[in-house]
Amino acid sequence: MHFIPNPANSEFICLLGLEECVSKILNEDKENSSQPVPFSCSQCLTDFTPTWKWDKGSRGKEVRVICENCVTTNVKKALKAEHTNRLKAAFVKALQQEQELEAHMAQQQQQQQQQQQQQQSRVSSPSSSAAAAAAAVAAATNHRSSLEVTPVRVSSNANSR
Ligand SMILES: [Zn+2]
Repeated sequence: MHFIPNPANSEFICLLGLEECVSKILNEDKENSSQPVPFSCSQCLTDFTPTWKWDKGSRGKEVRVICENCVTTNVKKALKAEHTNRLKAAFVKALQQEQELEAHMAQQQQQQQQQQQQQQSRVSSPSSSAAAAAAAVAAATNHRSSLEVTPVRVSSNANSR
């Protein structure tokens, strides 16, 4: 036995790889023929990416993967949508506050005008002062009714105790 396989032996180096040919001829490499099904992105159907991510949208169903490019674009889209929604909400809020402020200012102007008109009518014509008096009476009755409500509440509280 003069042939001992080792990398320093030049004869062995020449024969290196011959075992692959032998196993191919003898059909001993059949187990390698069954290739695994290659991944493909569930969104863009590509079969190449630096890193595959599990597609969380299809949890519980068959296992699906998504490519890195689609993951990053999805994240960017979500962030952009969130930003847009926040801007929209802020705009709507500002618009509502502006409308409330305008309504408040208009109300104040109306009140000022009414007060001025009442003062003018008292000075100028006594006939229209009757309307102002009626308004004053109505206001007084409103005030009185609001006063009447409070003792009722107090009495109901007393009954409950
Ligand atoms: Zn993709």
